[in-house]
Amino acid sequence: MSSLRSIRGGNARRLIASQLPFRFSKLQDPELLIRHVLESSKRAGDFKTATKAHARIIACGYWTNPPLLASLVSAYVRCHRLDLAERVVHHVTSRCRDLLTLNIFLRDLLGAGQCGVARKLFDKMPERDVVTWNSMIGGLTRNGRFHDALASFRDMLGSDVEPDGFTFASVFTSCARVGFISHASWAHGLMIEKKIEPHFILNAALIDMYARCGKIQTAREIFNSVHRDDVSVWNSMINGLAIHGHARDALTVFSELEQEKVTPDSITFVGLLTACSRCGLVEEGRKYFDSMRSRYSIQPEIQHYGAMVDLLARAGSVDEAYAMIKEMPMKPDAAIWRTLLSSCRVFKRSRLGEVAIAHIPCRKSGDYVLLSNTYCSLTRWDSAAKMRNLMKRKGVGKNCGKSWVEFAGEIHQFRSGDRSHRETDALYEVLDELIKRTKMAGFVPSMELVLMDVADEEKEENLNFHSEKLAVAYGVLKSSPGSEIVVLKNLRICYDCHCWIKLVSRILSRTIVVRDRLRFHQFEGGLCSCNDYW
Ligand SMILES: [Zn+2]
Ligand SMILES: [Zn+2]
Repeated sequence: MSSLRSIRGGNARRLIASQLPFRFSKLQDPELLIRHVLESSKRAGDFKTATKAHARIIACGYWTNPPLLASLVSAYVRCHRLDLAERVVHHVTSRCRDLLTLNIFLRDLLGAGQCGVARKLFDKMPERDVVTWNSMIGGLTRNGRFHDALASFRDMLGSDVEPDGFTFASVFTSCARVGFISHASWAHGLMIEKKIEPHFILNAALIDMYARCGKIQTAREIFNSVHRDDVSVWNSMINGLAIHGHARDALTVFSELEQEKVTPDSITFVGLLTACSRCGLVEEGRKYFDSMRSRYSIQPEIQHYGAMVDLLARAGSVDEAYAMIKEMPMKPDAAIWRTLLSSCRVFKRSRLGEVAIAHIPCRKSGDYVLLSNTYCSLTRWDSAAKMRNLMKRKGVGKNCGKSWVEFAGEIHQFRSGDRSHRETDALYEVLDELIKRTKMAGFVPSMELVLMDVADEEKEENLNFHSEKLAVAYGVLKSSPGSEIVVLKNLRICYDCHCWIKLVSRILSRTIVVRDRLRFHQFEGGLCSCNDYW
């Protein structure tokens, strides 16, 4: 122990400094020093340095320093040494009983994206308070683990710790992302039952949740009934209207915001520009984009440029979109180039498509397929075949389309051509019947190239068995006539399915709602709420 004590402070600093590259040795604080070393070992996946830093942490008595330990765990995970990461957690929990320290450690682990290790820590904690639970549920939500977050929330309800407003804000966000209204109304009901005082964060999360679960009307009612002095509440409403394709309503809400003298922020404009882009309101979009700087002194960020490129490219102003990409003050990201690539496909601009794909660093299957299909549409079959071969050579995997429907609290997932569901036979019978009826009504499957990017990934599968068709058929099988069918999809809905579902909605006189990766489609009487612009 005495030797440990002697290397603390100045000695420790010298000791560490002597073993580190020169640029680190200038740092005076040993804690800062170790943190820098861990960061660089994490970046480089350098296991040796990580273990050295680990030794220093122990030597300097930092074994209850949560940020350092979280950083150490991340470095080990990055070096594929999960065993050591878990050993750190074990070491801490066996020696430290202090709830505050453990809570910070948990928060930092989740902040570093280490959900698995954080869960191990959480399970080992001798006691948990509301902060512990909120860290866990909020951290899972921020890391995109929405189902896990909701499962943790259910565990919390079974514990003796009561949820608070922060818990519900995370739960609402998770429900919004999962997208099923049953989860949303359950969580909202619980909030009321537990008499949680609503504040602007909760109200914004509530509006967002209902909008993303397809209940834009409920979202509006909440919006109309709450205090609206914080811009986040407005942002949720504007964005919700945008994903439902109600661009005009979104713009009206924005003018109300101006009348009520609430100051918009950069997120407000992302919502507005998205709304314009979904509905092809090019002039309005330009006006809002310009007013950001001129009226509100908000510097456009990459998302705003992305939304503008999307707006111009979808509306057919492909060259203007490209000009905007070239003029952007920041480096355009892959998403922006993909937007351009997608419009090159629609407007048959293969040269520009080549430029776009050259700028996408980690190409996904959809990128190659898009370019390949651009060639096809120009009957440049050789180039198309080359692109397909390139995909094969590079081993680019296909991004699988998945759709979900929910009945009686159970979520059913379908992949393209899926036959794994327990009611597969009955489902395919319904699907066959629907296909027959739509054919009789004049539906022709678009076997030639589809107009949207995603479907292309699934194109080689039989169009008839796309996941959203399976989900719709299952919905028809399980629900009563006349009731609404809600389907969630992980990719954008394809052109063929879009036409088909429109017809199904007319033949069966039913409302079918599909939430795809970007927006809602509400099919009714043979039409879709997106007016075929998506
Ligand atoms: Zn499809
Ligand atoms: Zn639609």
